[in-house]
Amino acid sequence: MFNSDKQDTMIMVNAAHRYCLGRRSYIVSTCMRWLTKHWANLDNRTKLCLLRDTIYAIMDGEVDGTSYVDEWKSWAKVHFDTADIDLKHGIIQDLLWKKQPMPFDCGWCLLCNTPSYNCTCNHEDL
Ligand SMILES: [Zn+2]
Repeated sequence: MFNSDKQDTMIMVNAAHRYCLGRRSYIVSTCMRWLTKHWANLDNRTKLCLLRDTIYAIMDGEVDGTSYVDEWKSWAKVHFDTADIDLKHGIIQDLLWKKQPMPFDCGWCLLCNTPSYNCTCNHEDL
């Protein structure tokens, strides 16, 4: 049976996370800690939104040095690195149109859409 309460919970998790991106207060570390604690209970659709939105915010400069950019990068990298292959693939697919390098080493070049070891992009020119 369709569980709308579970779906509402996942939407509220994404909404709370979006509120925290770019904020400069205690709520940022509380958000990261809460999401990490409950990560195993989140569905892949929610995890994809959380990671994609975090990376978008970093790429777009909405998260900067005064709003915990290093902490968000570390948080996103940990959860990206431990994601299953379907989730990693979904995140990469959602990021390709941005035509920007990944804000952390993920083993994939978003500019030429190849594994990093095959990348011939000159990232110094970006
Ligand atoms: Zn490349």
